[in-house]
Amino acid sequence: MSHNRLIKKSLMVLATVASGILGILVLLWASWKTAHYFWLSSPATSAERQPLKIVMETSWRKLDWKQALQPDRDAMTTLQTRGLPWFDPRLPSSCEPPGFPYERGDVGDSWFDYSASDPGSIFPATKFKWKNGLSIRPTGARPMIAWHGTLHSHTGWSDGSATPADAYAFARDKGGLDFMAVTDHPEFWLFNPGRNWEELREIAAAADSPDFLAVRGFEYSNPVYGHYIVVGSDGVCSAFKCPDLKDFYNWLARPENKDALVAFAHPMVQKDNATQFEFKHMSFFPPLESRMFGMEVIHWSGHDRFQFGFSGKQPFIDEALAQGWHPGPLGSQDNHGLDWGLSNSRIGVLMTTLTHESLMEALRVRRFYATSSRDLELAFDVKSAAGEWIPMGGLVDRDTLGAFPGGAHGMLETRLRLFEPDEFNVPRRVEWVLDGRIAGRLDFEGLPHELSVSGEGGTYYAGEITGWLPLSEIRDGHPHYLYARVMIGPWFEAMAQTSPFIINSGDAPDRH
Ligand SMILES: [Zn+2]
Ligand SMILES: [Zn+2]
Repeated sequence: MSHNRLIKKSLMVLATVASGILGILVLLWASWKTAHYFWLSSPATSAERQPLKIVMETSWRKLDWKQALQPDRDAMTTLQTRGLPWFDPRLPSSCEPPGFPYERGDVGDSWFDYSASDPGSIFPATKFKWKNGLSIRPTGARPMIAWHGTLHSHTGWSDGSATPADAYAFARDKGGLDFMAVTDHPEFWLFNPGRNWEELREIAAAADSPDFLAVRGFEYSNPVYGHYIVVGSDGVCSAFKCPDLKDFYNWLARPENKDALVAFAHPMVQKDNATQFEFKHMSFFPPLESRMFGMEVIHWSGHDRFQFGFSGKQPFIDEALAQGWHPGPLGSQDNHGLDWGLSNSRIGVLMTTLTHESLMEALRVRRFYATSSRDLELAFDVKSAAGEWIPMGGLVDRDTLGAFPGGAHGMLETRLRLFEPDEFNVPRRVEWVLDGRIAGRLDFEGLPHELSVSGEGGTYYAGEITGWLPLSEIRDGHPHYLYARVMIGPWFEAMAQTSPFIINSGDAPDRH
């Protein structure tokens, strides 16, 4: 063989090998992109995983999710600009708080009164009281306790890591959760989803313990209509089996799924698709009214992307409430790595005991709140005319609500109790949201010493805030909703939101 031919032949071999490698790379890239498009791994989801690294790499306890709260922003930038206000500048002015000043009224032993004094404000008669030192820690014989957990997580059974058994064990032992649902995408269980679903029942049963509930669930993942979290269903329905939203809703409405609870997952997190048709913009479907129990308002630890809704004007959850749904707010972790329970995002569920039955019941009646402050305990009640406190999430009639005896108008008495054990998580603001408007706002700026309690275990925050809203604002003819939210930390890094009350105001048979 001549020298030239040898070179020629070597070049040809090289070219063949190179084009082979290139072909494989293109194939790999194409399949990765396809998976990206159809399943979860939208760019937003990939970006969300970044803050995790920061958490894993640091042992400084306070440098956790609170600084890395913007999943779709560069994590380092977020860390450097920790002064981000909770309200994004894009927030339309109609959503701004009325901004009326609060005056400090009579100061009793442990009571501080604040009343709105601006006659031009929407709710001039709104009043608040802050009572220092109370908590919702157990006091009675069978007290309600806030149990913390997340209802949205993944494992290697879809696009996450490890196994459901690993996930449950990690959430209990390392994540410190009281309950967790593993909710993999059944679209990954191509050939026999029923088998995975049955196997998950066994794994969850084996992972159950008196101090931890292993919940079985799945995430219906439709590339067009969005993602939904389902717990308590008899079977499983993937986007292959239920390609249209009406297929999925009708499947949920079947008698065998009567115990299933369903929630809207991370609205608009999949930015590249689904925005036009996602949840059909939460069109109301009456057969599921009582079982659409939630919507994510905190995902990882981020919350502000959920404040703008499809309209750009109000939070997604308010849009759903306006449509006639009755979702409670969910704080979800949506874990895709070995990190179950490590995020601060979670829900607190008020129950007397930790059992599957009590959890499902509490979710069904929306007796829970979302929080991105890890150990926050929160309760929100309204007072009935009979003097009983009705817990958050309740469906109430305007006519059965209490009146403020000293007021000129009928007043709705609300009570917010909170317990925040972390001394760095200073409660800074409480807002009462009525029909999407901020009906009352209480700022604690400059008053942290009045909120804090120093005990043996250090400083914590515990208190009870009573707020009165004029019932005249709850007019006949429409259902109304009322919830509370709490902004926490010097820069509102964390937030918590209660489930809404639905207040039926009388002769309004239809909810639209
Ligand atoms: Zn999802
Ligand atoms: Zn998910």
